[in-house]
Amino acid sequence: MLDLTRTIVAISTPAGCGATATLRISGQDAITVADRMFTAASGSSLTDTPSNKMVFGKIMLSETQMLDEVMAVAFRTPHSYTGEDSVEIYCHGSVYIQQSLLELSLTHGAFLAAPGEFTERAYLNGKMDLSQAEAVGDLIAAQNRLMHKTAITQMRGGYSEEIRHLRQELLQLTALLELELDFSEEEVEFADRNNLQNLLTQILQLIDGLASSFRVGNAVKNGVAVAIVGRPNVGKSTLLNALLKEERAIVSSIAGTTRDSIEETITLGGIMFRFIDTAGIRETTDEIESIGVERARQKIQQAQLVIVLIAGTDGKHYDVAEFDEWAQEIPADTARMYVVNKMDEVSFNENERPNQLGKTHVSQQTSPLLISAKQGLGIDQLIHQIVQLAAIPEIGQNDIIVTNVRHYDALVKTSAALQNCLAGMQNRIPGDLLAMDIREAIRHLGSITGEITPDEVLQTIFGKFCIGK
Ligand code: GDP
Ligand code: MG
Repeated sequence: MLDLTRTIVAISTPAGCGATATLRISGQDAITVADRMFTAASGSSLTDTPSNKMVFGKIMLSETQMLDEVMAVAFRTPHSYTGEDSVEIYCHGSVYIQQSLLELSLTHGAFLAAPGEFTERAYLNGKMDLSQAEAVGDLIAAQNRLMHKTAITQMRGGYSEEIRHLRQELLQLTALLELELDFSEEEVEFADRNNLQNLLTQILQLIDGLASSFRVGNAVKNGVAVAIVGRPNVGKSTLLNALLKEERAIVSSIAGTTRDSIEETITLGGIMFRFIDTAGIRETTDEIESIGVERARQKIQQAQLVIVLIAGTDGKHYDVAEFDEWAQEIPADTARMYVVNKMDEVSFNENERPNQLGKTHVSQQTSPLLISAKQGLGIDQLIHQIVQLAAIPEIGQNDIIVTNVRHYDALVKTSAALQNCLAGMQNRIPGDLLAMDIREAIRHLGSITGEITPDEVLQTIFGKFCIGK
């Protein structure tokens, strides 16, 4: 449990910009601590300065030695981010100044903030609920427009209100059901079973709707997983490089810590894609084929979209036989694309399709996309199809999208409990047993907004934040 009687401090610079840094102090002594090191140019202290008013002044290291000229502002409880008395000091971003300012705050009575502690305090002080607090973390991590949009919607309340409302309704239902217990001799039913069933069905629909939005939410937050598979040397790496070059937004290589794999994250058409390379090893062109196939299988299982790549065989044609081999490996509900590479070697011509050899299951259903990864031919069309197949709908202003896997888990568990309850009603089980299922649902719903959340859950959530937020 956090010690809320402590006044905490942290300093941070915006990523990529060292010009200014912000020192944040929060807690009951925040303003006093700040006054011990800050002197306003007007001579007055922050204690005597109105809330939310920016003042110019200096930070003194000692009576005679000045550290920096800064701007400072005091916020008073409950009108601050954390809900506590807080001070922000904007200083020059040098490492030396930041270090000294932080040390000075510690000498004057503040304690170093733990990761996410400011936001955790905001949650504990009732400034926001848990799902909103988590959205703050998502907002900071947002790398593109969609991630930002879903995070900001959630931070501003998102589905908190809806969850609270549903939870309230369920609480009323259990109260009625539990009341029946007190009159069990008389066999009364306070909770009309038809009404109850209707209400539960309605709530279940809402819950399932929220849970199903996670497909999109997860894609927005973690990227749509794409696997490029094909025999050695068909040009998989070359294609990935071509896609990386196309990208005009952020490119990053994330060494997956949990997935034991290397992933290239590429934003195409405003959607984030994660190209999976399993086992954390870059494939080499001389890899043994059997290992290659086993790896490809793993990739295919993890992917939401599979790109099957073959290479044009000689100057005049390409053979589609390989497509069917791969098609068997792809789960029925996974989107896929069939692509022939190295068309520059086959006489690539938009008007005149080269001969296709062989007739296969795949080639009868769809004609493959012809590209040259090396020459960059057909790549725009490939990207267009990738974006289409990802099928991420445009997210509207008021759409409620679940992006958080913890929330998704809780929704799935809520749904299961409600389904149990409905099944129990069919079997005419007694009210107290129904009430138990509903209580279970209430508990899971409450965990989303943090109405009832054990300490260790809070620790995992806020531990992932950076210090200073
Ligand atoms: P991977 O084993 O599937 O990853 O294949 P690579 O991307 O390593 O490519 C194997 C070889 O094929 C390399 O020499 C590439 O330069 C070459 N290659 C890849 N794409 C093309 C293409 O579109 N046209 C031609 N002519 N060669 C290509
Ligand atoms: Mg390769």
